[in-house]
Amino acid sequence: MKQHDAMYIDGSWRPAGGSGTIEVVNPADEQVIATVPAGSAQDVDAAVRAARAALPGWAATPPAERAAHLAALHDQLAARAEEIAETVTAELGSPLDFSRMVHAGVPLAVCGSYAELAGTYAFEEKIGNSTVLHEPVGVVGAITPWNYPLHQVVAKVAPALAAGCTVVLKPAEDTPLVAQLFAECVDAARIPAGVFNLVTGLGPVAGQALAEHEGVDLVSFTGSTAVGKRIGALAGAAVKRVALELGGKSANVILPSADLPKAVAVGVANVMANSGQTCSAWTRMLVHKDRYAEAVELATAAAAKYVPGERVGPLVSARQRDRVRGYIEQGIAEGARVVAGGPQTPAGTGFYVTPTVFADVTPEMTIAQEEIFGPVLPILKYEDEDDAARIANDTVYGLAGAVWAGDDAEAVAFARRLDTGQVDINGGRFNPLAPFGGYKQSGIGRELGPHGLTEYLQTKSLQF
Ligand code: NAD
Repeated sequence: MKQHDAMYIDGSWRPAGGSGTIEVVNPADEQVIATVPAGSAQDVDAAVRAARAALPGWAATPPAERAAHLAALHDQLAARAEEIAETVTAELGSPLDFSRMVHAGVPLAVCGSYAELAGTYAFEEKIGNSTVLHEPVGVVGAITPWNYPLHQVVAKVAPALAAGCTVVLKPAEDTPLVAQLFAECVDAARIPAGVFNLVTGLGPVAGQALAEHEGVDLVSFTGSTAVGKRIGALAGAAVKRVALELGGKSANVILPSADLPKAVAVGVANVMANSGQTCSAWTRMLVHKDRYAEAVELATAAAAKYVPGERVGPLVSARQRDRVRGYIEQGIAEGARVVAGGPQTPAGTGFYVTPTVFADVTPEMTIAQEEIFGPVLPILKYEDEDDAARIANDTVYGLAGAVWAGDDAEAVAFARRLDTGQVDINGGRFNPLAPFGGYKQSGIGRELGPHGLTEYLQTKSLQF
């Protein structure tokens, strides 16, 4: 696997200040596939200085030129799509088909959308006797997780660059290789030196140094709610902008009029995708009491098709596998009934978990409240629509969700009752321009499309 033992700072690969390293492990066979430098506060400082030095020039670059740079970046990513898919499969463990379609495909769509938006967005508007200028926020510190390792990078870097900001990226320690590949694409796209910088390293060291750095104007973070709260507190103390994309416990509400076999099949597929490591996954299925037994039977049969090592990859690390297994054991201990899978892990190497479905789950159980981040589906029963809305909203999270009904209008009426940032209606389809982000403790701010671009802008009004 291709790797750099250096940081990408100010347009070139530079040796790290310290000698610490991070081993990258392939979760499917548990082999060490690469070693990358563990950046220090000193490396973060060098990267932030480079980003700050590049800021005036990039912010003053006409939007059409920034758009052309993003189009060149898109072309680089497109030309290397197969390598991107193979790299994500090696460091995250996803089946190669999924890596091609999602881990390589979605960032391309998002980068393409910002290449277009950079050229068409109204960075100036007239309001009465004022002209309002939408100006870049400044230097962005981007901290990303491992579960969609390139998508989460592009969902921050592309809008930041479109807005005229410069960036320092600290990617997740489990998946630094695709971030290095991304830096190569930035370089090949001839984006000016210092506009994008990469520091690999550990969260509490390099991540924390980036979040705390005085030269950073906006911290954009995706990851756990625990770390997000810390970063929010640091930003609050420094009166610094912050965008947080955190965890979720999204409800898949199947109303009585829905096509039950379809809703259950798509619901199971949604939870199993990426081995359940998706913050917006529909991790609670809510079914009316009269159709509950049928839904459990359908989900049990559907889950059997998700064979570990074939359709379902391993979890990213031994730590995540153990964490997910712990949740399965806790579900059993609290009285939920395993109808597929269970805590026993498949034989052989790799950090696999057996896809698991729980019936007889009640809303207060741990597996119905906490983010498991694995291929585990709890199915809950509701009495009527009011009960379904109450259960769906009864968590600290509010990231996503789904509603299924006989027609879209009925599903939309119910979706209005959900305290959540996104709802898929009768299945839904991914839209790279639709705002993505959380209500409640799922986060602050939105990513993707024009809403994602405004996160990286601040307004100045000129009165005439
Ligand atoms: P995490 O929050 O620990 O890590 C996310 C990023 O933050 C990584 O780059 C990490 O290095 C960095 N980080 C860690 N501690 C930091 C600190 N003190 N200061 C600054 N940066 C820091 O999340 P994780 O270990 O990747 O996953 C743990 C849990 O987070 C998962 O099980 C899941 O519940 C949740 N998660 C959510 C999302 C999402 O998209 N909402 C994505 C991944 C993980």
